[in-house]
Amino acid sequence: MTSIAANLQAVRERIVAACLAARRPTDSVSLLAVSKTWPASALREAAAAGQGAFGENYVQEALEKIGTLADLALEWHFIGPLQSNKTRAVAENFSWVHSVDRLKLAERLSAQRPPNLPPLNVCLQVNVSGEASKSGCGPLEAAALAAAIERLPGLRLRGLMAIPEPTEDTALQRRRFASLRETLATVSAHTGRWLDTLSMGMSDDLEAAIMEGATLVRVGTAIFGKRDYTI
Ligand SMILES: *Cc1c(COP(=O)(O)O)cnc(C)c1O
Repeated sequence: MTSIAANLQAVRERIVAACLAARRPTDSVSLLAVSKTWPASALREAAAAGQGAFGENYVQEALEKIGTLADLALEWHFIGPLQSNKTRAVAENFSWVHSVDRLKLAERLSAQRPPNLPPLNVCLQVNVSGEASKSGCGPLEAAALAAAIERLPGLRLRGLMAIPEPTEDTALQRRRFASLRETLATVSAHTGRWLDTLSMGMSDDLEAAIMEGATLVRVGTAIFGKRDYTI
């Protein structure tokens, strides 16, 4: 077994253990492998070990890997900050976007989604930590934004995503994740449709996220190792 395959196995076991601890079905959380900075060969190893969904943060880097790995049936999720001038490439090449935080981005993605593809799955990114520097709409804006996104034909609103501030305080981790779950309930009531996705939890806090209802965890380091941003 390669180390990526072994790491993937260990992450899957963490997810199952967290589901059991939370008294949730063990298949109620899906795993998104976050592969930013890693070469296509690393993703190919993960795919050979059964991983089908990959998250990328940088458009150009992602497009290269999507091309190189076109022989595999992979599902691509865009999870990084998105600039308006990059929406077309994302609308044309990804199945999901987790980082929609303003209507203008959603409108562009909808208009640019090719009509021969199914609607693009989107999550609204919400800032649950209240730090001015972080992207994401405010929790109080989420319902109105979600209702506007619901009307866009090229998109399918699936739920909410958050990246809380890193902390080792597990009680604080859980409060942030609980706040996203509560926002999802408010947004669902406002749109009149139950949104099924809570995209929250990463390598260091996936257990807390699953305790608070995550349906998708985004895990990079625990699968691929520590990223090197100096190369
Ligand atoms: C990099 C990244 C992750 C993965 O973080 P790890 O700590 O490496 O698991 C998850 N979500 C987003 C949005 C990211 O940018």
